[in-house]
Amino acid sequence: MKKLNQITFISVFIIPLFSIQLTAQSISRKEIKIPDILGFKTLKCDFHTHTIFSDGDVWPTIRVSEAWKEGLDAIAITDHLEYRPHQGDLVKNFNRSYEIAKEYSKDFGIIVIKGIEITQAMPPGHFNLLFIKDANLLDTLDYNAAIKEGKKQGAFIQWNHPFWKNPVFPRVNSKVEWFKQQKELYENGLLDGIEIVNERDYYPDAFRWCKEKNLTILGNSDIHLPTGYFYDFSKDQHRTMTLVFAENKSEEAIKEALTAHRTVVFFSDTLIGSDRFLREIFNKSITINEAKLEKEKGKLFYIMITNNSDIPYSLIANGIDKDFEFSTDVYLPARSTARLGIKPKKDDFVGMRNLILPYKVKNLITEPFESLKMEISVGIEMK
Ligand SMILES: [Zn+2]
Ligand SMILES: [Zn+2]
Repeated sequence: MKKLNQITFISVFIIPLFSIQLTAQSISRKEIKIPDILGFKTLKCDFHTHTIFSDGDVWPTIRVSEAWKEGLDAIAITDHLEYRPHQGDLVKNFNRSYEIAKEYSKDFGIIVIKGIEITQAMPPGHFNLLFIKDANLLDTLDYNAAIKEGKKQGAFIQWNHPFWKNPVFPRVNSKVEWFKQQKELYENGLLDGIEIVNERDYYPDAFRWCKEKNLTILGNSDIHLPTGYFYDFSKDQHRTMTLVFAENKSEEAIKEALTAHRTVVFFSDTLIGSDRFLREIFNKSITINEAKLEKEKGKLFYIMITNNSDIPYSLIANGIDKDFEFSTDVYLPARSTARLGIKPKKDDFVGMRNLILPYKVKNLITEPFESLKMEISVGIEMK
């Protein structure tokens, strides 16, 4: 009788242990294919996430496994400093959510950055202090003192969601404002960047400020729920993120790149950033399969364009050619090949031409209301 009991005991406890192990091993990571550019590594980063240690809904380890599954390289844990609705159930330690995530990240190769979100009514609003050393030293209701302490610790200071106005929360078409508090911080060297996209909201005015004032642009998820509740991964959606062009995959290199303004914002199917970075990403994403074509006169023909990246590109003609008509709209889906049609305007056109086809890439935003201009060059001979 006793022996039988022992066997029952073993079977009940060993089987669940095995199934936990197997479940942990079966999760997989979706890689996001975006080329490295200009000798830098393109790192996918989210510098704004919440956990149960403020008003988020998940334990810090979940932020790490989500980031790994979604193909990210780095996340910052940025729980609110002044808003902790679960504090009655938790220890009072502003470093704790980072510490838990950091420890867990070792098995995943995800970089976890220590941050905190200063949470004041607008103005001045919310600020993420990234790369701080000790969040407990920031525990004050005086935002100026907290930001100064953060800077002393080497923080990169990001103004979050500049549209947000407590308590009204006008998310759509709301006017953003450069308040005197922002002016003061900026003039004292206490502002390094702005979230021009938060969650799914893009603020062209904030993009303009970054250009005018030489501040870094960022786009982040500000996720509170589990990411799978907010983004539909079965439809290839991804969280809003910041692409960082870093010397290598390390926290130090990310900080250096942020300080040097080497970032692009990636949200929905859109990239926002400087012409230099977006042109390079586009050029390194596509290959034109036929550089020289020989065709019979008068015929419509195609060139094949392969997009090797995970970013779909949407091209629209930005000019005309005197001898040839060409597709006005060209959609290049991710990891696919698409055709671009070309036809001589006159049926009897013969001879050689080096065609330069002018386009705009609609979803690559280089100015607040302007897209990347580029050209497709193709040599042809009509016989
Ligand atoms: Zn906030
Ligand atoms: Zn937040």
